[in-house]
Amino acid sequence: MADHHDLVLRDVKATGVVFTGRCEIRSATCSAKEGGAVTAVWDEQRQVDVCGHCIEAMVRAGEWRIAGARFRSHADVAVLDADGRPLLIVEVKKRPPFLDDEDSWAKRVRRNLLVHGALPPAEYFMVLMHPGHAHLWCELEVPDLDAEPLATWDPTEEIKRTRQGPPAPASLEDAVAEWLRQALAAQPPPDWAVRSGVAQKARDTVVEWQYVPGTHGRSPSRLTPRPGR
Ligand SMILES: [Zn+2]
Repeated sequence: MADHHDLVLRDVKATGVVFTGRCEIRSATCSAKEGGAVTAVWDEQRQVDVCGHCIEAMVRAGEWRIAGARFRSHADVAVLDADGRPLLIVEVKKRPPFLDDEDSWAKRVRRNLLVHGALPPAEYFMVLMHPGHAHLWCELEVPDLDAEPLATWDPTEEIKRTRQGPPAPASLEDAVAEWLRQALAAQPPPDWAVRSGVAQKARDTVVEWQYVPGTHGRSPSRLTPRPGR
């Protein structure tokens, strides 16, 4: 039986047929929980009615792969350089239930986002699971879909502290943006930021969340390096 909590990447076929119905996935961003535009996909011999938001959520979660499908590029959190180009983009995930191998899961999320063209181009990419680990890649080379991360570490306690405020961040993405802002402004910067080169390049950067290329996301404040401290 197909169960969308199975943490296995599955090839799903889109039928392309759109009709009015109730979405069966019902993710946090679902637009057809009580009825709306849905499409039918085939997931392991079973037809699933799903709204557009939930298709994207399943792909971004590394659970579905849909041949030929492309998704809008978007980042939950982005560190932009002085010219507004993304230096580091972050895919923020709540820890899924029943997860035991974080590393292969994070690699699968990255691979799926690359395959579906869903990441804005940036020098660095991070999959951040909360609670759990951060996985950081450098994307300067032609992307290797199965590359090992440059760094893996556990920022759970730091992110929990930013969630206590003040001001208390409204969402997990807000908390991650605040955590990154503090980490990149810290003197000395944290080990992961120094070893990866992010800290050296993050002078005069802005942390935004809900970043879509060509638009302005929301930015809490401009990062100012604090020399000599
Ligand atoms: Zn839905």
